[in-house]
Amino acid sequence: MAVTERMPWYVAGLCFKCQGCGACCSGPAEGYIWVTRPEVELIADCLEISVSRLRRQYLKRVGLRTTIIEHEYTKDCVFLRKIDDQRQCIIYPVRPSQCRTWPFWADNLKNASNWNKAARKCPGINRGRLYTREQIEQIKNKKKWWQDGKQQPDIEESS
Ligand code: SF4
Ligand code: SF4
Repeated sequence: MAVTERMPWYVAGLCFKCQGCGACCSGPAEGYIWVTRPEVELIADCLEISVSRLRRQYLKRVGLRTTIIEHEYTKDCVFLRKIDDQRQCIIYPVRPSQCRTWPFWADNLKNASNWNKAARKCPGINRGRLYTREQIEQIKNKKKWWQDGKQQPDIEESS
């Protein structure tokens, strides 16, 4: 018997274009910005500091995982800085997988309601470039981005 593939609700694709507002990197809600060991090394290289200093100053352990810390009061990611009046990620070329795959996270893609809920926080969702279902799934499942041999964003940068 032929097995019919169940189509995801976003089979026609989804639009996204980052507007550069920085909302996904900032508070007021507390969150986690998970990093893996290879990402820790890349971030340390990018900041030209040792891995141990990076871990001491900017990371913390939560159970078995490691997260980038947030500012105590604003809950902004510690790597979000104001440069030329714009909020920018100072480790952008090596930002972790969690950051580079937004908004195509499994939870956001579960159903249209979750997607539209995410859109209320992120003005880039449902705007701009159309990503096909295949592209969405490729981004969603891409954890080891550094293995590409390039550190290019998979999702278009904001203009
Ligand atoms: S991804 Fe969304 S929330 Fe984050 S900076 Fe871009 S537009 Fe703003
Ligand atoms: S690492 Fe960069 S992209 Fe990720 S949350 Fe922090 S400032 Fe935002």
